[in-house]
Amino acid sequence: MVRTVLPEQLEPLGELVTNLRWSWHQPTQELFEAVDHELWERVGHDPVRLLGEISPDRLAELAADQAFLGRVRAAHDDLRHYLSEPRWYQDADHEAPAAVAYFSPEFGITHVLPQYSGGLGILAGDHLKAASDLGVPMIGVGLLYRHGYFVQSLSREGWQQERYPVVDPDNLPLTRLRHHDGEPVRVEVGMPEGRTLGAAVWVAQVGRVPLLLLDSSIEENGPIERDVTDRLYGGTGEHRLRQELLLGIGGVRAVRVYCDITGTPPPDVFHTNEGHAGFLGLERIRELIDDHGLGYEAALECARAGTVFTTHTPVPAGIDRFPVELMRQYFGPDATGPGLPVEQVLALGSEDYEGGDPDVFNMAVMGLRLAQRSNGVSRLHGDVSRSMFAGLWPSFDEHELPIGSITNGVHAPTWVAPEVLHLEEKAISGGGWKSATTTVSDGDIWAVKHTLRERLVTEARRRLRVSWRTRGASDAELGWIDDVLDPGVLTIGFARRVPSYKRLTLMLRDPGRLKALLLDPERPVQIVIAGKAHPADDGGKQLIQQMVRFADDPEVRRRIVFLPDYGIGMAQALYPGCDVWLNNPLRPYEACGTSGMKAALNGALNLSVRDGWWDEWYDGSNGWAIPSAEGVTDTDHRDDLEAAALYDLIENEVAPRFYDVDAEGIPRRWVELLRHTLTSLGPKVQATRMLREYVDDLYTPAAAAGRRLNADYAGAVSLAGWKERVRAAWPDVTVQHVESATADAVERGQTLRLRAFVALGALTPDDVDVQVVHGRVDESDALRDPEVAAMRAAEELDGGTYRFEGEVHLDRPGAFGYTVRIVPRHALLADGAEMGLAALAG
Ligand SMILES: *Cc1c(COP(=O)(O)O)cnc(C)c1O
Repeated sequence: MVRTVLPEQLEPLGELVTNLRWSWHQPTQELFEAVDHELWERVGHDPVRLLGEISPDRLAELAADQAFLGRVRAAHDDLRHYLSEPRWYQDADHEAPAAVAYFSPEFGITHVLPQYSGGLGILAGDHLKAASDLGVPMIGVGLLYRHGYFVQSLSREGWQQERYPVVDPDNLPLTRLRHHDGEPVRVEVGMPEGRTLGAAVWVAQVGRVPLLLLDSSIEENGPIERDVTDRLYGGTGEHRLRQELLLGIGGVRAVRVYCDITGTPPPDVFHTNEGHAGFLGLERIRELIDDHGLGYEAALECARAGTVFTTHTPVPAGIDRFPVELMRQYFGPDATGPGLPVEQVLALGSEDYEGGDPDVFNMAVMGLRLAQRSNGVSRLHGDVSRSMFAGLWPSFDEHELPIGSITNGVHAPTWVAPEVLHLEEKAISGGGWKSATTTVSDGDIWAVKHTLRERLVTEARRRLRVSWRTRGASDAELGWIDDVLDPGVLTIGFARRVPSYKRLTLMLRDPGRLKALLLDPERPVQIVIAGKAHPADDGGKQLIQQMVRFADDPEVRRRIVFLPDYGIGMAQALYPGCDVWLNNPLRPYEACGTSGMKAALNGALNLSVRDGWWDEWYDGSNGWAIPSAEGVTDTDHRDDLEAAALYDLIENEVAPRFYDVDAEGIPRRWVELLRHTLTSLGPKVQATRMLREYVDDLYTPAAAAGRRLNADYAGAVSLAGWKERVRAAWPDVTVQHVESATADAVERGQTLRLRAFVALGALTPDDVDVQVVHGRVDESDALRDPEVAAMRAAEELDGGTYRFEGEVHLDRPGAFGYTVRIVPRHALLADGAEMGLAALAG
């Protein structure tokens, strides 16, 4: 690999290219463009290739161009400033973590680093970018896939074709991690039969945040090991297990080396983005045992305290589960891997609850057991996750389970079109979006939307032409493409991966009705569609083919297009150009969804089933909710009902409002919705909002808990010992008898006094909470939305029994019920349900 050597005056360009902040910094992109307009287009806006292919003459010319050099210096100063100035986090409280390591199987940061397949990766990329913007000290950890995810094209018949271009790290904005003596860093993970999986470590600099990417394609590896990081989500279960071992265990080792070499403070919080990286917990337990002499239980407590786990899928098939037999091969005595007794490892991922499968190892279950704090990614997904994993805490009500939620967000500077950002700045300086009398007029907004629609139309035609050429058409046959889409027509976007729950083809339920909407002489709509099916998912590929065949029909092809190879590059043009963003998942399978947020920030209105984030933030006037026929179990019938509702909404609400224009050609009532969307959703859907919540609600408490356990490890040893004692004593912990001093019918406003007689066996009142659980009672005699009140120890009776007292204030009319329960209590538990232990009255 020969790299272009930059003349000294242009050296700052090198850092501007390698720091991926350029990917969300418009002025730096404009600087790259100024290097050579034509080449910038030809290399697909890839600055590494730009510098690689620029002619020596042009370089010499630029090196002598004072105006250009001034711009380079200014951009470089700006970057330096961005990298060093105090940001939000630098004001954070002193308990906040020294550093957070964020592990994810994929990262979507820019189109020139295609290391993502969809929403999970894009979210991880936005997480790092927001951390950088806020000054959160974070280290990202992932894998470098030599073939990334596939490039999608179509066959003549509309069948998805996959291509896996080779990624050459030397042509990517990456730096190889090296020791001070120049030796490249190599981390190793033990494999069965004494083999070793080695990996190089590459660093992508995402603003202030380093992202470490492990790459197994090194000469020292055997052929199997070399291919471990070949592609994202490909291959057998065993292949995937090897990837996850490298990510989790190798990832922690890479972080240790990185911190050593760079003098970065070691992370005190580890965040597992989805179960795939969960083995990181095992490596940290091993470190604590080997390096600090802790026992397994104490090491587990230490590792858990500083770990955060985020679950991302309500679809059971989305969770990694490995055969126990396979796990035994990789964690058994023949494998040098994580060095923990295999039975202990297996117990962590065991589905040892009702309905569980004894033969599988479940990565999400391990994730929950290895993290003291965990969350879903929207409020609704929090509910769904608690019910999905309820088996882990059988003695508790679902709403009490220790899985919270933080709703995802998106990184605005990456996703918002510059024109909209400019409007936004103007609006903010002029008093906000709310009123049409502020500095930004309805006409301004509408003109920008028209420009963005035009740009999308141009881009869609370009992509469609490329696609048809790939499908074997000649230019002579493609004249019609010049008339595809119309910048004056209501534009609906639909783009996402194609798992069945997202229902790509719901709009085809009644092709006649869809056709009528597209071809309506007065109020036509046009639809831009994109999405990749997983390479092993023939069902998904069939859906794409149905869609493509419909869009190929000469009657409608000017109004509906399928654009192959959905990715960051296409998404950035697509969201701004849309008026409406359509999302029709099978509720509640969309954990959050983020494309609608990106669309909203660009002034598109959401038309969506109330799933994921839309369930939480749809307010009746920031878009439309497609009714979900959730009770209907016949899925065909359900699809019919929901599709009919979708057609009705477009026909009766969306299109009439869009085309209701005044004498100046402005749809005032539409622009009103748009203003409301930008005002109400704008602040909420941002990744910086999300990241602040992670810092305040999860990272900081985790760091604090970790510190309490890790300072001299005495806390961990004592907590582990206490838990062991509590578990041993628990069979003898019982509520023997409860008395109330009050009659059956009581009056509102009265106080109910309760006495509970409890046996605590070997425990003392300090080890437990005795609680009254009370609330309204439903028809089946179950408590509805119960509340919990603590009782006090009043008297010690004989032989480890105690009398507790408490009261409940009766402030609601109607049938009322209560029960008494005992749960373990310790200052270092994050949640009363954490141990899954509760003793209930009678
Ligand atoms: C935002 C985004 C996604 C995620 O879309 P969902 O709404 O979560 O389905 C997927 N792919 C790309 C390229 C994106 O930009």
